Amino acid sequence: MSTTKKAKKHGAGHDAPQHARTRPTTLDPDWEVAPTESLRAPVGFDLAAFDRGSTPGFAGGKAAGQALVARHADELSELQERLFAEGRSGGSRSVLLVLQGMDTAGKGGIVRHVVGLVDPQGVAHRSFGVPTPEEREHDYLWRIRRALPEPGYIGVFDRSHYEDVLVARVDALVPPDVWEARYDEINRFEEEIVASGTIVVKVALLVSYEEQRARLMERLERPDKFWKYNPNDVDSRQKWPAYQEAYQAVLDRTSTEIAPWHVVPADRKWFARLAVSELLLDALRRLDLGWPPADFDVEVEKKRLAAT
Ligand code: AMP
Ligand code: MG
Repeated sequence: MSTTKKAKKHGAGHDAPQHARTRPTTLDPDWEVAPTESLRAPVGFDLAAFDRGSTPGFAGGKAAGQALVARHADELSELQERLFAEGRSGGSRSVLLVLQGMDTAGKGGIVRHVVGLVDPQGVAHRSFGVPTPEEREHDYLWRIRRALPEPGYIGVFDRSHYEDVLVARVDALVPPDVWEARYDEINRFEEEIVASGTIVVKVALLVSYEEQRARLMERLERPDKFWKYNPNDVDSRQKWPAYQEAYQAVLDRTSTEIAPWHVVPADRKWFARLAVSELLLDALRRLDLGWPPADFDVEVEKKRLAAT
């Protein structure tokens, strides 16, 4: 404690004071550029030129990346608890993590290894597959709206409304004028969500064509991975260029100021997990969460309890 004081007095303190422990302002030295910057899809982003084995902004290797995830786990967990507490106390805020990516990009691994660091009670996880008959009776955003996180929750979408401009476009599930109109609709929809108090964190997990092949092959070679394999995955893979074009359009047209896309190279699983954990942590830090005050008289309650 005294060293902190001393450092402060001399104006050289890098340690955040104790009360702000969950909001450090300094970046871990292994990040040469903050992940929120290095991973944010810039205007004019070129998907074809993106190195899917790279680690943008991060100077460390696998061990350093894994260590950083572990080091930030407690903070992530505490901030999630604060968010949950706020939601229980009349707050209206939430976080929505949108995970998009081709098969094998690692969406499930992110859920297990990153989202799994926080209390599952506070997580609203939803994966979106081929629409059910009931879902098909409604507008494509119907099932999405119903799955939005309640106040206090971290919502996690494994695939999302973006499938309706990805697979829907590639497989011509709807006419071009229909999917064409969806980009603006999605932007307006996300504006609404953000205005209602949700921080939207959009992550495109970008796996390379070669790495996808290797991961699919592994699923075919290991009986413990058969369950992850779907023959349709190869059909989608055969349409790789069309999917890349559709992803490029998503990044060009739906990366907005209020809900920007982050492009995360996914060939190194450790990096993708680090990247998403840092983006999630940043979102929670931005909420500047406190603890809700007691809505009862603490002293009165202490006396009542002591008398029992
Ligand atoms: P998985 O995430 O591996 O379980 O696969 C889910 C499948 O559902 C993927 O092939 C998606 O392309 C597909 N899917 C998700 N959303 C939609 C949608 N709105 N329309 C058609 N197919 C979809
Ligand atoms: Mg799959």
